[in-house]
Amino acid sequence: MNNSSSYPIDLDFIATESADRVLENEQFRRFLGTYIGNLDAIVQELNLQISAKVDCTACGNCCRSLMINVTRQEANQLADRLGCSFSALKETHLEESMGGQLIINTIPCHFLKDNKCTVYEDRFAECREFPGLHRNGFRDRIFSTLMHYGRCPIVYHLIEELKGITNFTVQNKEHA
Ligand code: SF4
Ligand code: SF4
Repeated sequence: MNNSSSYPIDLDFIATESADRVLENEQFRRFLGTYIGNLDAIVQELNLQISAKVDCTACGNCCRSLMINVTRQEANQLADRLGCSFSALKETHLEESMGGQLIINTIPCHFLKDNKCTVYEDRFAECREFPGLHRNGFRDRIFSTLMHYGRCPIVYHLIEELKGITNFTVQNKEHA
């Protein structure tokens, strides 16, 4: 475990790590699928420790790279905050899928300024939940979590710590 006061946010580094560790992380995904320990408890404890030492305001990479789903209720709440109608907000900030799902119509998100969310109190559930490491059922989300390994420093550091805690070892490293 990192005992320093912070974990580094080096987005170029974790992107490179992600590319270099594709096969290793695939092995780790399969390894975790058969791991018999209490993964939720381990991951949630790691998440508490690591999230406290990662400054999201110095990162903002999720807001710059994810497509954000928005519920109708959230859109109405935000429209109220911005002093406009739902229709006006939709016209300028949202798209609607064929299935009726609302999404923010730009990546990066409209509301990110200087790496800070300008609608923080009214940010959407998807923003609040990301990267979701506090939730139960991690075992069912290993694949989707690893998709964010090269994007989110919290995920990157947690996965690397988790490899150590679970005594994961890479097989045939030169091919991993
Ligand atoms: S609403 Fe705020 S937290 Fe959500 S993606 Fe946009 S800037 Fe980020
Ligand atoms: S949740 Fe992850 S990607 Fe988003 S700002 Fe925090 S460290 Fe960066």
